[in-house]
Amino acid sequence: MLNKQQRKEIQEFISDNRKIVITTHTNPDGDAIGSSLAIYHYLKAKGAIVDAIVPNKYPEFLSWLPSSDELIIYEKNSKIAKQKLFDADLIFCLDYNALSRVGSVTDVLKATKAKKLLIDHHIDPEVENFEYIISDVNTSSTGELIYDFIVSMGDEKLINEIIAQCLYTCIITDTGSFSHSCNNSKTYEVMAKLIKTGIDARHLHGLIYNTFSENRLRLLGHSINERMLVWKNLKTALIYLTKEDLQKFKYQVGDTEGIVNFALSMDKVNIAILVTEKDNKIRLSFRSKGEFSVNDLARKHFNGGGHRNAAGGNMNLPIEDVIKKIKSVLNDYKEKLSY
Ligand code: 5GP
Ligand code: MN
Repeated sequence: MLNKQQRKEIQEFISDNRKIVITTHTNPDGDAIGSSLAIYHYLKAKGAIVDAIVPNKYPEFLSWLPSSDELIIYEKNSKIAKQKLFDADLIFCLDYNALSRVGSVTDVLKATKAKKLLIDHHIDPEVENFEYIISDVNTSSTGELIYDFIVSMGDEKLINEIIAQCLYTCIITDTGSFSHSCNNSKTYEVMAKLIKTGIDARHLHGLIYNTFSENRLRLLGHSINERMLVWKNLKTALIYLTKEDLQKFKYQVGDTEGIVNFALSMDKVNIAILVTEKDNKIRLSFRSKGEFSVNDLARKHFNGGGHRNAAGGNMNLPIEDVIKKIKSVLNDYKEKLSY
């Protein structure tokens, strides 16, 4: 957390017309985009000079968020984005714990002279890479930490309907609509404050969750009906999607979000995995119930990480080999999986 002196320094960055850039992780989710835009609107309201950069495209179901069209997508506009990062005095690093999580932006981030402020809720942040750190693994979302940050800067009154819409999205998406990571009255208190700004929670929930294309819903059906393996002895369900599957259902960014949770909804399944063949790489999504840490699993064996119950990873093998490897790794954890 920030001490008084650090808060003063941040305040000076904001009020002295120095250049501020907001960054978040690659394949940004609701918490990443919601946090970025909440801070963006807050800093604009303070009169700061600010830009927000995302490494790659964000899912369409987040495009209703206020000013999402002002986000600079690094993969599309790398020249401008790079310049902004090199010119920056302060960089907000939101919803990631390691510089490698920003994909193509990593090298630029390492090379900038800017001070970095981390606001994040993932395990084991790379503390040496950030001058200012706000990190709490027991907080529902980065959005909740941003709410606290704005309050700590003495600016609760600036949390208007627009910022509240962004923060609502963070909390709702990172807790699966209050189903996990929020067994804590504080998250509900923050949400109550957001609702008091006048946001229409029912409407916003619909904007996030009820905007499937027909193809996306059919891809979900296909995933469960045709592509789900259930390994009863490992209490694991694994869904795999090949490049051809994605092509068949005209995959758009965001279309596979949430699929892994359906596998976890089965009784007697403690681990759910989604294996997706994307851009000649294999993307992995892990979910677990209870004590088993998919963060550890992803870190140790699958070039990834995340939270105890939700993590991601990456592999550079053919999809069949990845599935075999997962099965063999899980076999080594067999005793730990039966709870
Ligand atoms: P998802 O499965 O929804 O993509 O990601 C679940 C969680 O794991 C998110 O909190 C995300 O930040 C984290 N995560 C996803 N992919 C990676 C990865 O490649 N590396 C690390 N360290 N974390 C990841
Ligand atoms: Mn998050």
